[in-house]
Amino acid sequence: MPPEDDGPGPRTDDEVAGWVRSLGLPGLVDIHVHFLPERMLTKVWEYFDRAEDHYGLRWPVRYRLPEPERLDALRSVGVRAFAPLVYPHKPGMAAWLNGWARDFADGVPEAVPTATVYPEPSAQRDVAAAVAAGARCVKAHVQVGAYDPADEALDAVWGLLAEAGVPVVVHCGHGPLRGAHTGLDVFERVLRRHPRLVAVLAHAGMPEYDLALSLVQRYDRVYLDTTMVGVPFTEEFMPVPGDWPRRLAGIADRVVLGTDFPNIPYTYATQLRAVAAWAEADPGLGEPFLRAVLHDTPARLLGM
Ligand SMILES: [Zn+2]
Repeated sequence: MPPEDDGPGPRTDDEVAGWVRSLGLPGLVDIHVHFLPERMLTKVWEYFDRAEDHYGLRWPVRYRLPEPERLDALRSVGVRAFAPLVYPHKPGMAAWLNGWARDFADGVPEAVPTATVYPEPSAQRDVAAAVAAGARCVKAHVQVGAYDPADEALDAVWGLLAEAGVPVVVHCGHGPLRGAHTGLDVFERVLRRHPRLVAVLAHAGMPEYDLALSLVQRYDRVYLDTTMVGVPFTEEFMPVPGDWPRRLAGIADRVVLGTDFPNIPYTYATQLRAVAAWAEADPGLGEPFLRAVLHDTPARLLGM
């Protein structure tokens, strides 16, 4: 269901801030944004440069800008708070990334302090230290990290996060690429052991949207983020079910704005148009849904 040219929502980034104000919101809260140490980010961008080899499609990173300009871009669309998510691909990185994320948030008022996890002997100690130091959101990337989220080394980590009520944004779906341990069925093993974990399924579990909705229904503290969901780019290869807006109507307070800024091959406004199209498509959604998704629910999860 790609948003039509004449559909609702802002057409360009320049129109976003005014559109957000027209909804009566003080700004946007984006739970899924990436900032990384410069050298890592350069490598991520080089990966997207070769997207045709990896994904079979072109992926021109839209906001490939120096860090100050990326922050300006977020501010100009009215993002008042965001979770800058970091993630390791091997052992020995998580604690360093957590320190980097803490320093980054210290210098950027809109950035919520975040942390990440990796199954290694220091995992519990690292996450406990990050939470004690103020981390309010954690990222787990099952595909890039190539680990089993139900790994024993992470059991105490999930328990600690559930106890602390700190949300974990978990990329555990098969999209855009399968990994050895991707799949929402794999992550459900974690939820069975830790049913009170606040888990935000990145990309709404793409492409297993049905299972993602089922997890939201069965676990009170599971949420979906909108990252890359329903935009024309993604609809080409991992479209949402045709009755997506109707199905969201039953779980309207369990959906949060995420975008994957800056690594997206389209504008920030494009994601908002996808969400606006869902809101318009079902009478049970409408503007209250937009206010919940774009601000209220993510603000609550991030402890604002
Ligand atoms: Zn992401």
